[in-house]
Amino acid sequence: MRKVFLPRDMAELWSAMADEPAARVYAGGTDLLVAMRAGTVVAPALICLERLAELQGVREEGEEIWLGAATTHAALLSNPLVGRHLPLLVQALRTLGSPPIRNMGTIGGNICTASPAGDTLPPLYVLAAEVELQSPGGRRRLPLRDFIAGPGQTRLETGEILTGVRVRKPVDANCHRFEKIGQRQALACCIVSMAALLTVTPAGVVASIRLAWGSVGPTVMEAPAAEAALTGSFMTRENLHRAAVFVRQAVAPIDDIRASAAYRREVAGNLLLRLLPG
Ligand SMILES: Cc1cc2nc3c(=O)[nH]c(=O)nc-3n(C[C@H](O)[C@H](O)[C@H](O)COP(=O)(O)OP(=O)(O)OC[C@H]3O[C@@H](n4cnc5c(N)ncnc54)[C@H](O)[C@@H]3O)c2cc1C
Repeated sequence: MRKVFLPRDMAELWSAMADEPAARVYAGGTDLLVAMRAGTVVAPALICLERLAELQGVREEGEEIWLGAATTHAALLSNPLVGRHLPLLVQALRTLGSPPIRNMGTIGGNICTASPAGDTLPPLYVLAAEVELQSPGGRRRLPLRDFIAGPGQTRLETGEILTGVRVRKPVDANCHRFEKIGQRQALACCIVSMAALLTVTPAGVVASIRLAWGSVGPTVMEAPAAEAALTGSFMTRENLHRAAVFVRQAVAPIDDIRASAAYRREVAGNLLLRLLPG
């Protein structure tokens, strides 16, 4: 029979991790337990993080918002700080899974699964999120884009857990958009997604823009050339079409059962057109 630990504080967590070095930690289990049932992950013991108060909740800390790693998607969606400051993340969370999955799945689990299709990742990239990691030896912070090392791979070290994710409030942005193309309206793994954070002047000129795409490469993909092309330009169909060419050059999709690489590349560029006002 497999041992399952339910630590109630960090001291109990470190002690369980020391006693069972091969144990896997989990929060909602919506990725890990599914993978174990499918036989793609084998874990001799499990350590559940959901009772750790240190990994729960949302805090406003000056110019930043801190999101606890074991906070569920549903809890984030109903949190007023997230609603007020992070509308881009809210849009992505609304498309993630189904109500039962949002009630169990956590933001830390979505990050640590490191799927190129993880719905919270493109928004967190454009928000320049940083992850907070902790082990008995101390804490460290890392930009999310450095933490994600490849599909299913992170720079989490042995004996370390993700405690939270930190983003600066995007105070200047006045356009927050998450777009997701899937095979169905609900419960669909994304075929292509795009997160966009813009500041557009009253005259319609793009003063700043951050863009990121999901499911079109081994990790979240960015297109600095498209951002440069749009910065200082009017938000017109023509300019967005021009920038879409750079997007299609930057992404690196693959064929899979859900869509071809060519379709994903085309759609990744086309999603820019959804930024047109009205
Ligand atoms: C039916 C279904 C539909 C889904 N739909 C979507 C969808 O639309 N979009 C989407 O993005 N995802 C989707 N998912 C995937 C999943 O629900 C999410 O990725 C979820 O956020 C995972 O969170 P979790 O807490 O359940 O992760 P867990 O399964 O608990 O953990 C996932 C991984 O992260 C590690 N981990 C978790 N927390 C920590 C931590 N604090 N520190 C270190 N390591 C940690 C675990 O060891 C494991 O490797 C779906 C899953 C299912 C089963």
